[in-house]
Amino acid sequence: MGRYFCHEQPDILSLETRVVDARPGAVVLEQTPFYPGGGGQLADRGTLRWGGGEVAVSGFEPAADGRFWHLLAGPTEPTGTGVAVVDPEFRGVMTQLHTGTHILNALVFQQFDRALVTGAQLNDDRTARMDFDLPEADNDKLRALEAGLNDLIRQDLPLRYTYVPLAEATTQHGLIRSRSVAPPPGDDGLIRIVEIVGLDRQACGGTHLASTGRSRALRILKIDNKGRHNRRIRIGLEG
Ligand SMILES: [Zn+2]
Repeated sequence: MGRYFCHEQPDILSLETRVVDARPGAVVLEQTPFYPGGGGQLADRGTLRWGGGEVAVSGFEPAADGRFWHLLAGPTEPTGTGVAVVDPEFRGVMTQLHTGTHILNALVFQQFDRALVTGAQLNDDRTARMDFDLPEADNDKLRALEAGLNDLIRQDLPLRYTYVPLAEATTQHGLIRSRSVAPPPGDDGLIRIVEIVGLDRQACGGTHLASTGRSRALRILKIDNKGRHNRRIRIGLEG
């Protein structure tokens, strides 16, 4: 995971930029507002607008120097300068769900004996699932976390970011919340830490709200036992 423009400027969804590399069906941009996916968060959707033309961006692939290829849905070959535009509604849903998964993750970690995450996936139907290593937990107690989730949304807690060396992140228990994978450090060897102030700190490379109060209410939709250890919690945005 490199450092992305969307990490520093998450509210800029439309950006004038320049093609710095091209191949049939794909371009690399000098700067881009797109999130290319990863960590369970789906890649942004959107368009590139070029001198009267417009083409949808259909996906991303890694390129050199921490940049990425923007795969194009049409045969156009954009050159020079143009505008990259992220679909604001899709980003909004991803960002709300992603922030919601952090709140859920914090509550499970704090109330269920520092249980770790075994998987997470955001979906484009306004739902997300998180899997936790929770061999003993009572599903009714997990279901009851819904009230706490929405209380923390109403408290409108701010989010902020710091960067710490990988060694520090791995020795501070709880900063790397996933049982199996940690976000890879950037070229500078630093890991991005997301803090929900007063609630939780953990390594993450996704996009989040500026404060929890910007999320719609969340519902806990379903809890499944997935094997002896894994508990799968599905959440969804209201309305
Ligand atoms: Zn995150």
